[in-house]
Amino acid sequence: MNKRVRVRFAPSPTGGLHLGGVRTVLYNYLFAKQQGGDFIVRIEDTDQNRFVPGAEAYIFDTLAWCGLVPDESPVHGGPFAPYRQSERKENYRQYAEQLVKNGFAYYAFDTPEELETKRAQVPNFQYSHATRSGMCNSLTLSEAETADKRKGPYVIRIKMPESETVRFTDMIRGEVSFNTAQVDDKVLLKADGMPTYHLAVVVDDYLMKISHAFRGEEWLPSAPVHLLLWKYLGWETDMPQWAHLPLILKPDGNGKLSKRDGDRLGFPVFAMDWTDPRTNETTVGFRERGFLPEAFVNLLALLGWNDGTDSELFTLEELVQKFSMERVHRAGAKFDFEKAKWFNHEWIRKVPVDHYRQQVQLLLEQNGITIQDQAVLEKVLQLVKDRCTFLTDFVQQTSFFFRTPDSIDSAAIKPKWDSTKNLFFTELIRAWQLSTLWEATDLEKEFKELAATNQLKPGELMLPFRIMLVGGKFGPGVFDIAAIIGKEETVHRIQHTLKLLA
Ligand code: GLU
Repeated sequence: MNKRVRVRFAPSPTGGLHLGGVRTVLYNYLFAKQQGGDFIVRIEDTDQNRFVPGAEAYIFDTLAWCGLVPDESPVHGGPFAPYRQSERKENYRQYAEQLVKNGFAYYAFDTPEELETKRAQVPNFQYSHATRSGMCNSLTLSEAETADKRKGPYVIRIKMPESETVRFTDMIRGEVSFNTAQVDDKVLLKADGMPTYHLAVVVDDYLMKISHAFRGEEWLPSAPVHLLLWKYLGWETDMPQWAHLPLILKPDGNGKLSKRDGDRLGFPVFAMDWTDPRTNETTVGFRERGFLPEAFVNLLALLGWNDGTDSELFTLEELVQKFSMERVHRAGAKFDFEKAKWFNHEWIRKVPVDHYRQQVQLLLEQNGITIQDQAVLEKVLQLVKDRCTFLTDFVQQTSFFFRTPDSIDSAAIKPKWDSTKNLFFTELIRAWQLSTLWEATDLEKEFKELAATNQLKPGELMLPFRIMLVGGKFGPGVFDIAAIIGKEETVHRIQHTLKLLA
């Protein structure tokens, strides 16, 4: 019988979530949902030195923003709780001891100072089959000495075979094999009684009945240790199927994309803003940069996968249907911020404006603009959304609907300004003041008729009119703008500019 599909995202809460991390979540999620399985989030916080306050909450906020809701997690609960490894501390020792008993691991008593000295003396020192016989451990000490030493601090290390080939089939890479000769004797249980990542990840994947383990390619070198642990603990038949996801590369393809690349090249690398509590330094996120979660999820899915056609725009539901591990590329995926912008622009146009109305309202409020009428805001968003790449663009693209522009680029009108045009706008004001209709089509008709009467081409009048209403050379259709801001404000803006031009 096939095992129930259970996948896990197992982050260490050490900082903001890099887009590669969110993509790992996404692929886990898509696979689980497609197979009708469970998506578990397990917090791997056994390294107390690397613990960063706020990092776990940040992870869950990111998942909520992306709409990737876990079935089980420290926050959502579940039958295998607790889901925070620090709260499972008592689980691990027995397995480490079992490994020692069966000859697959050993106690090591070398003090941090002794190890330091060793590293200083021997270049590239590794605690391994080649060196362990010269170190202080249960393999070199007598039973009595070992028992005595165990009263003090010690760690448990895996006894890596001197030269053995370890193989597994990766869902993305196919057959992968390693020789254990180069792999060191990793610590499994630390002096403080906490497991290291290597032991904890295997024990918990087993106890939580994980069927598939998808993680970043950077974990591939750890795979032989994990494979041997599955074997040594006698759980080989329960081992999850592995998939090591390709790296997300710098735009030029030269190495893994890092937070520093983002800072250097001016684009976000984290999902949301992250303020490091140790340095107070804030790294900008996709969310605050003005990305829609729909776009973020979509662009991440396509960083290393496609559905085999030219289609690129997918909702989360569509991705659940179409996703397949077989189509995940083996090679790293270059991150292209221009492409990321394209996705966001498309999604801003695609989703109903109601999805982001409140967010834009908040942005406008931060810029001193209060919205009185939601229906007007909605109409305005509808008019300008094609012009926005980021949600933050809405501020510039909509402010003039709600507030008289601070400055008018009259210098852009002046070179082609003359008395006939001045007369035209003066007459326009008079006509519109009497007008009872205030729809865009009526305004356009009157404007054009008056232009014809004055023997002027409407084309020559449009740009000055736009600048009068907007302040500069941008924005949607001028008559739409006039219709929304109303008669009084339209007349006021024209009069104001005419004074500037006089
Ligand atoms: N705790 C590891 C991390 O921080 C998880 C690696 C894995 O999924 O095995 O990414």
